Amino acid sequence: MTLSLAPAHEAARAEFRTFVDEHVVPHAGAWHRAQSTPPEIIGRLAERGYLGISIPANFGGGGKDAVTLGLLAAELGRGCSSLRSLLTVHTMVAQAILRWGSRAQKETWLPQLASGARIGALALSEPGVGSDAKSVTTAIEPDGGDLVVDGHKSWITYGHVANLFLVFGRTAEGPTAVLIERERPGLRTDPILDLIGIRASMTASVRLEGCRVPEGNIVGRRGLGISQVASLALDLGRYTVAWGSVGIQRACVEACVAYTGRREQFGVPIKEHQLVRQMVTNMFTDLHASELLCMEAGRLRDVKDPSALAATSMAKYFASTAAVRAANDALQLHGANGAAGDYPLQRYLGDAKIMEIIEGSSQIQQITIAEYAYQEHARSPGIPSGTDSWRKS
Ligand SMILES: Cc1cc2nc3c(=O)[nH]c(=O)nc-3n(C[C@H](O)[C@H](O)[C@H](O)COP(=O)(O)OP(=O)(O)OC[C@H]3O[C@@H](n4cnc5c(N)ncnc54)[C@H](O)[C@@H]3O)c2cc1C
Repeated sequence: MTLSLAPAHEAARAEFRTFVDEHVVPHAGAWHRAQSTPPEIIGRLAERGYLGISIPANFGGGGKDAVTLGLLAAELGRGCSSLRSLLTVHTMVAQAILRWGSRAQKETWLPQLASGARIGALALSEPGVGSDAKSVTTAIEPDGGDLVVDGHKSWITYGHVANLFLVFGRTAEGPTAVLIERERPGLRTDPILDLIGIRASMTASVRLEGCRVPEGNIVGRRGLGISQVASLALDLGRYTVAWGSVGIQRACVEACVAYTGRREQFGVPIKEHQLVRQMVTNMFTDLHASELLCMEAGRLRDVKDPSALAATSMAKYFASTAAVRAANDALQLHGANGAAGDYPLQRYLGDAKIMEIIEGSSQIQQITIAEYAYQEHARSPGIPSGTDSWRKS
């Protein structure tokens, strides 16, 4: 059972699926073990226009809608969550520039991001700053018409290969976003290895020591780096992570349906045992529910409905937690083989766990979603809580 889509979206999904089956699925295990993404596959993503898929055509991109971006994230997530995370962070940087950047920034950077000449990375987290992003400490100080940036950014996805960093620091006015090119003196990256998931994502820490950039590299207004620039980027990141979690779930379902049909115990394929079917049922239902939540979030984004924000948080929360459940059960259904490195199940489980942490952890989504629930109730109280008036209708 797959989502029913409009013809253009169906065609896009078929194209992405073929690409991922041919160029990603056969190699993802090797990339995971090597903890590295080969430049050739990044080049292929760029050639296909996937890195610029949602950058407008007048800036050299594909100009595709949010649903198409989601379908690409789902297919990449099915094959390799690290590559999906490249799409995520690169697109976050591009969309932040598109929405909040100056005209000169758009004209300079968007064509380079669209073609893959520049790989974008988003540098928000610090060793002491995670969920509470507005507490960033990286200093951005004015100095003779330039800015000088000093700080330590941590967990930066594809930070080891990116060459355009959207860095969040602090000016006198408050949190502020600034673009820093890799070639600027004073910027250094060090790889972070042995992560539980997205192990091919070339995650790095970024050190900024007296790194000088022109004033024109500030994105948006000083003091509004988190409330405007990071908020937009994180919402987009959440959206693609939700779809990427759908991809992990689909990989788990496909692996389990195939394996339980051929593995025999007690004289029958294990799919004949009801407790096995129960796990497949839960996995398949969660997958479909996740796809529907993601599709709803995508459609709302495409018509610029403000409720897309809440829909995206719910899609990310549900799909990422469902991906952990699916990967956990999928590994269980593969028994000892699930625990072995020549099957992809342990990769799926590690990748799924990361989905619950990044772009706002599950707990942060829960806090946010509850807030939306109370806001909605305040706007339209409906049936008073604590009554059983529904019984009387
Ligand atoms: C593989 C990977 C890639 C990443 N890529 C990037 C990247 O590209 N760029 C970037 O800037 N960052 C990146 N990050 C960092 C990521 O954004 C943070 O890990 C995330 O924001 C959570 O922050 P933290 O890890 O510091 O956890 P903390 O904020 O310290 O939270 C620890 C725990 O406490 C919980 N918690 C925190 N506050 C509350 C609260 N108010 N109520 C209830 N529970 C709470 C959290 O949910 C979590 O379970 C990445 C992380 C990983 C693991």
